[in-house]
Amino acid sequence: MAENIHPIFERTVQRTERENVNGHHAGVVWLTGLSGSGKSTIAAAVERELFSAGHFVVLLDGDNVRTGLCGDLGFSLEDRKENIRRIAETAKLFVAAGAQVLCSFVSPTREIRSMAQDIVGADDFYEVFVNTPLEVCEARDVKGLYAKARAGEIKGFTGIDSPYEAPTAPFLDLKTENQTVEASAAEVVAAIKGNLSL
Ligand code: ADP
Repeated sequence: MAENIHPIFERTVQRTERENVNGHHAGVVWLTGLSGSGKSTIAAAVERELFSAGHFVVLLDGDNVRTGLCGDLGFSLEDRKENIRRIAETAKLFVAAGAQVLCSFVSPTREIRSMAQDIVGADDFYEVFVNTPLEVCEARDVKGLYAKARAGEIKGFTGIDSPYEAPTAPFLDLKTENQTVEASAAEVVAAIKGNLSL
């Protein structure tokens, strides 16, 4: 740690005090998957459900953070890593503030996700694999990005000419292909309930 930095973590209102007031535990639900797999859609539905139940919930989403906090970063492996580092540090601050943080990011490699988990802390990190086959994501092509990547207009697109490494042991393996958004969101809420209830 830098010589002249003197953190005051122990003097702030503590996380457990905040959790008791909020009526739930804090934690990070990390949604990973291909572009178009459904991360943003599911995260928004889960956020709405938890918010309606009175939870302190925050959603950090790929394109949103790239308009501000990470607006200076591109999509090289190095920039993707820095993107995820900043997001994980931000999520950690929100956890200390007692929030349930939903993070929806492609986060394509095991190395990148394990860095996020190390920053947040394994006990507070719930990895959700939004497990949608590439063909389905490409057929959905919500943002028209797969067509551009196939045409060579976008280089280094995850799943096309940049790798996606599926999680080997996610907290939740969410298969969206034959499911409605509501059912997928309900599955996430049910899975985290046991861990994030007081
Ligand atoms: P990502 O954030 O992973 O890039 P998006 O959420 O932007 O993906 O897009 C996913 C698309 O797939 C949306 O148009 C959504 O309506 C559709 N979709 C169909 N079924 C599901 C499901 N079960 N879960 C999530 N999205 C689904």
